[in-house]
Amino acid sequence: MLRITALAGGIGGARFLRGLLRAAPAAEVTVIGNTADDITLHGLHVSPDLDTVMYTLGGGIHEEQGWGRADESFAVMDELAAYGAEPQWFGLGDRDLATHVIRTQMLGAGYPLSAVTEALCDRWQPGIRLIPMTDDRVETHVVVAEPSQSDGPNERAIHFQEWWVRLRAAVPAQRIVFVGVDTATPAPGVLDAIEAADIVLLPPSNPVVSIGPILAVPGLRDAVKATSAPVVGLSPIVAGAPVRGMADACLTAIGVETSAAAVAGLFADLLDGWLVDVSDADAVPVVEATGVRCLAVPLLMRDLDAAAGMAGAALDLAGIAR
Ligand code: GDP
Ligand code: CA
Repeated sequence: MLRITALAGGIGGARFLRGLLRAAPAAEVTVIGNTADDITLHGLHVSPDLDTVMYTLGGGIHEEQGWGRADESFAVMDELAAYGAEPQWFGLGDRDLATHVIRTQMLGAGYPLSAVTEALCDRWQPGIRLIPMTDDRVETHVVVAEPSQSDGPNERAIHFQEWWVRLRAAVPAQRIVFVGVDTATPAPGVLDAIEAADIVLLPPSNPVVSIGPILAVPGLRDAVKATSAPVVGLSPIVAGAPVRGMADACLTAIGVETSAAAVAGLFADLLDGWLVDVSDADAVPVVEATGVRCLAVPLLMRDLDAAAGMAGAALDLAGIAR
């Protein structure tokens, strides 16, 4: 049985994983999900990336949007707004809310997030094992400049979701901080899944705020470095721009160019192979010069077949039979 372990954020990760399940239908796939986007809203614990993976693979996702539930309504949000409840910039649909209610109840009853995630996946049957990167609280915060009144602080940290969703990442980030990560420990099963894998994949997820926090959990990056499995990644940057979203704003914040080669550089200590899009063939020799095998293949997930083709190419690059 082929054992595949992938580190994943939300939309890019989930769409790739759906292709992976088609490319390697017999594989046992473990997904280590990013939880640093998690946020408490209206008293509820929301795990956007875990839910995007669960809904996408479980058939409940809003396809065009890429997050949230299909056939969604927003009656509860409207009622909350009528009370003036904040924030109003993060939409939680009525169907989606049920997930957050269950999650919050279970966490309140003392279950760790990993057990809660397993319970939620019992319903959705995503066809993979989904494990949060950690059961500890880790939150990505973005430090932005604040026009100061002479002697006040001239910067302020806001939750990643406020920067991404409310501000559309249009306010330059000075720093991106994973609050709590230093004392976090990998969730049960995470390190084993990396060590026992036949291949470790880095899907085309946001390198800074999706893959970044996962690798920042103490012990995790070392486990990916130490595993005997080949590690292969796919570029989320195509032709010098993110395919969707504002990953360029995140890369700028950490002083990294928005290019397929520069993103590979972030993971150079881990990678055996890296796939770039055909439009980025120039990056191939640059990446290969760092000792990482690199190939240019189509990397746009226009449909499931395209995503499956990308997953197949990643397995092929590592010489993994399926
Ligand atoms: P998020 O948590 O919902 O933002 O999702 P991820 O972190 O998993 O993925 C976001 C990244 O996916 C963005 O940086 C996009 O550039 C990338 N992405 C989205 N669609 C595609 C695609 O079709 N091809 C490639 N190569 N990258 C994609
Ligand atoms: Ca995310």
